[in-house]
Amino acid sequence: MSNRFENKVVIITGAGSGLGQASALQVAKEGAKLSLVDLNNKGLEETKKLILESVPDADLLLITADVSKEEDVKNYVKQTVDTFGKIDGFFNNAGIEGKQNLTEDYGSDEFSKVVSINLNGVFYGMKYVLEIMKNQGFGSIVNTASVGGIRGVGNQSGYAASKHGVVGLTRNSGIEYGQFGVSIKAIAPGAIMTPMVEGSLKQMDPDNWEEVGKQFVEPNPMKRFGKPEEVGYLVAFLLSDQANFINAAVIPIDGGQSYKY
Ligand code: NAD
Repeated sequence: MSNRFENKVVIITGAGSGLGQASALQVAKEGAKLSLVDLNNKGLEETKKLILESVPDADLLLITADVSKEEDVKNYVKQTVDTFGKIDGFFNNAGIEGKQNLTEDYGSDEFSKVVSINLNGVFYGMKYVLEIMKNQGFGSIVNTASVGGIRGVGNQSGYAASKHGVVGLTRNSGIEYGQFGVSIKAIAPGAIMTPMVEGSLKQMDPDNWEEVGKQFVEPNPMKRFGKPEEVGYLVAFLLSDQANFINAAVIPIDGGQSYKY
């Protein structure tokens, strides 16, 4: 097994489920000390259990936090540095889909909620982690955008605005921080089968969501959903030293779907 994360410290938000959980498992297997952040404490405990099954001596810090609250973000960054002394990698990933609706019916409260988690949360994370990484002179940040951050999908005003915003933050700050030895990238996943996507299919048809899922992936060149562990492999590579020269870039992981539109 590769040891790319030996003596490395990685923070992952949204670590209690889906892409965050799969990425946490991958970097833990490669030796990372991990600060696992999520709103959902139960999810964090599940991730911990999963990691300890394959890496019994993993060094894990679990932090319950709401990424849309700046004080919570400041605190998870401080706790990580107080515990581990540095931050090598940051997977800035927590997010929600929000309700699906036409723009006129989307709702201003829903819009604010989705943007405050998906965009403000990512900004706060960058703000506090970049300060540390700049002083260290090294570090890698991977922000989770989406195909919905590089293409129009429809019925997702808040999601689209927030994920396009994540792409903008990545490009902007990558330009600023490259000179300090810090690289910032975004991933743009297509439909990856996680609890979020299951919830999304259930919004379309609660009683027949598995069939809806089959139809949903029909236009995909690979005719399937992505797997969380496939995203985990990409995130591990992007957080590792092997990807230091990839900066301000957005990497799709979607079976080729976004190139078809
Ligand atoms: P998920 O619902 O399985 O996991 C998201 C995690 O984020 C959950 O554990 C949840 O508790 C946590 N979270 C939500 N709000 C939070 C908050 N305010 N503070 C802290 N934690 C919070 O979803 P997922 O599919 O793993 O999604 C992870 C990221 O990937 C999201 O940003 C999502 O938009 C993005 N994404 C997912 C897909 C996909 O197909 N699954 C595609 C594109 C982008």
